[in-house]
Amino acid sequence: MNLGDSTMTKKITIAVDGFSSCGKSTMSKELAKRLGYVYVDTGAMYRGVTLYCLRNNLISDNIVNEQALSKEIDNISIAFGIAENGAQYLMLNGENVEKEIRDMEVSSKVSLVAAVPIVREAMVDLQRKMGESKGIVMDGRDIGTTVFPNAELKIFVTASSQIRAQRRLDEMRSKGNKQVSFEEILQNVEERDRIDQTRAVSPLRKADDAIVLDNSNMSIDEQNQWLMNEVNKKL
Ligand code: C5P
Repeated sequence: MNLGDSTMTKKITIAVDGFSSCGKSTMSKELAKRLGYVYVDTGAMYRGVTLYCLRNNLISDNIVNEQALSKEIDNISIAFGIAENGAQYLMLNGENVEKEIRDMEVSSKVSLVAAVPIVREAMVDLQRKMGESKGIVMDGRDIGTTVFPNAELKIFVTASSQIRAQRRLDEMRSKGNKQVSFEEILQNVEERDRIDQTRAVSPLRKADDAIVLDNSNMSIDEQNQWLMNEVNKKL
């Protein structure tokens, strides 16, 4: 396997979609690193818009004030920064909000905000611009179906909701969040899946030409190997 040569000759677009908390961003980040590609976490972008809505009281009783949001959408700037250690972080109107967007408060509202058509329109536009020159791994829910329907490689990731909740709990615990419970996370994961799959605009679904990766019983190494194998078939 000689990645150096193959990536120099051909750059492709890789779309990674799937359910909440199934490790899409971990695998997409690693894949981008190995290929020397740009990685884009589109979930972080929707989380950033959600944080804006929470800060500006645009959500009440689980209802997003779409009219007020549509007036403000042009004032919401979403971008990525890169820390000294190479880690990406999300910027909302120039402020690093990487930590805030991972909170349960944002997690519990993000699928509501992500279902708002004007929000999707704005984010999809931005995502297409980011992927213009290919050489990109983008993860989300609608990348293979809506953002890049012509992506050369589409992966659809899934795993049981119990396993996904446990992984998210481990991740939050490792970051020092001791308050949140397994049940709370499981409920959040399942609720987000439900909203994502049933929304009117760009619902979460497998693109017809996507390859399914069920990583319920896969180690990270096995998963990376599986992915590289699929990438190499396309290069
Ligand atoms: O990937 P992550 O779990 O951080 O995404 C947060 C939420 O953003 C998802 O539950 C989904 O509602 C929304 N999302 C989306 N379309 C994407 C990426 C994320 O609707 N492309």
